[in-house]
Amino acid sequence: MKNISIWKDTIDMISLPTLDSNQETDVLIIGGGITGCSNYYFLSKTKYKVMLVEQNKIGMGVTSNSTGKLSFLQNDLLNKILDNEGEEVASKYLKSQIEAINLVTEIIKKEKINCDLVKVKSSVYTNNRSEVKKLKELEDFLIKNDINVLHTSNNLVKEKDEISIDNTYLFHPIKFVYGLIKDKKNIYENTSIKKIVEKGNYYYCYTDNYVIKCKYVIIASHYPYFLLPFMFPIKAYLEKSYLSATISNQNNISLISYSNPFISIRTYNDYLIYLSNSHLINNDLDDKKNFIELQKKLKDIKLIPEYLWSNSDVMTNDSMPYIGEIKERMIIATGYNTWGLASSVLSGSIIKDIILKNDNEYINLFDPKRINVDQIIGNITNIYKNINGFVKSYSKKQDKVIEKDNIYFYKDNKVLTKCPHLKCKLLLNEVEETWDCPCHGSRFTLDGKCISGPSNQNIDVKNSKYNNKKY
Ligand SMILES: Cc1cc2nc3c(=O)[nH]c(=O)nc-3n(C[C@H](O)[C@H](O)[C@H](O)COP(=O)(O)OP(=O)(O)OC[C@H]3O[C@@H](n4cnc5c(N)ncnc54)[C@H](O)[C@@H]3O)c2cc1C
Repeated sequence: MKNISIWKDTIDMISLPTLDSNQETDVLIIGGGITGCSNYYFLSKTKYKVMLVEQNKIGMGVTSNSTGKLSFLQNDLLNKILDNEGEEVASKYLKSQIEAINLVTEIIKKEKINCDLVKVKSSVYTNNRSEVKKLKELEDFLIKNDINVLHTSNNLVKEKDEISIDNTYLFHPIKFVYGLIKDKKNIYENTSIKKIVEKGNYYYCYTDNYVIKCKYVIIASHYPYFLLPFMFPIKAYLEKSYLSATISNQNNISLISYSNPFISIRTYNDYLIYLSNSHLINNDLDDKKNFIELQKKLKDIKLIPEYLWSNSDVMTNDSMPYIGEIKERMIIATGYNTWGLASSVLSGSIIKDIILKNDNEYINLFDPKRINVDQIIGNITNIYKNINGFVKSYSKKQDKVIEKDNIYFYKDNKVLTKCPHLKCKLLLNEVEETWDCPCHGSRFTLDGKCISGPSNQNIDVKNSKYNNKKY
């Protein structure tokens, strides 16, 4: 069994240089996931000089651990926007998602990107009687917006009702990201921005050794480390899910549940990718239990996984992304509520228009500074979620010994190591062999290398007094 995503195991990884001198550019993009690379794609075609820095390897963050679906049938997201923000906003959001998917397929065609794109019918089902009404509301809303809706059924999960739409796709997310940065000019890997300082009309972005002076900075780092002036931990929270890939030889499938328990299923070549056990990152700290439950569900449908991995995404208070300026010339794109593979590409076209001062109908819709009732209530509940995660992380008992490369990790109730971001206690994810932060999602390899933000620092595991000991 492999404890990495199927996407990481099915690509030839590219290698790009590390920053080795001070630099000046018009636009600096921080983060080389699908958001950063989409912004690089659009802005490279303008008069501006663009530079991108990636803390680790291009495309290996949240993007590389997703399910790789391009669909506007997004669990209960449209119903939430419809219920809370009204029909006009929900219709605009739906339009944005259809346009975003079209943008992705146009880029794939234009740039001849070989990313295993497959056109499929996408379905959402419920086996919960109380949700049948919500599914009907979703169907009515889609029909009102000129979407053709079919009633279908599947042979993998029991359903009380299921609807399907056409014109959705499946792809290989890392292959697509590589296709966005074909010329690879001014892109630096293993280059982490530690600090951003504003002076006059410029931002100075510091790595450990060098500084990049730029006019515009785009924060495409998923969960941003740079807290001020945006106070991100109260603007958003994280949801974690557990995924698997198993040989199954099914025809093209793209299926999701309407709501909890969230299930997402798709095919990739001969594999079936199955996602389940989603939870708020700080609600359930037992990764191993979640992986075991996922495997039980697979066993019920006679599947034994070949790959197991987990992933978390940024969720926003009103279920819509944050794309736009948070202060003058500092731009953010994140908060995709687990549907970021098309929205991130759209963010590239929105941000290009912000910088070029062009009109774009989505600038207001996704404005990260927007205030609405959901934002205010969400901000308050997120303060509770932050405190809850912090307290739970410290009270979680871990008593397992694991050995890798001669480093022995002894867990007990003492603090082994803290997350450099906001000092939550890191917990061992035994299945994937990583240290995971149960508050804001930072992840580290067993020997302390940061592989997922918001942390932009490694941790000193080897010198921890609890390590390098055999118990
Ligand atoms: C389980 C799961 C399944 C999903 N499936 C789907 C799906 O099927 N369809 C869909 O549309 N969406 C899906 N999503 C959502 C989607 O994967 C994400 O919204 C999207 O990949 C986010 O991309 P990103 O570029 O913003 O983040 P990332 O891919 O994480 O990229 C951010 C990059 O920034 C880098 N970075 C961070 N800090 C710094 C720094 N200080 N300096 C330099 N670099 C830095 C990181 O190393 C990382 O590479 C899923 C999410 C989850 C959790």
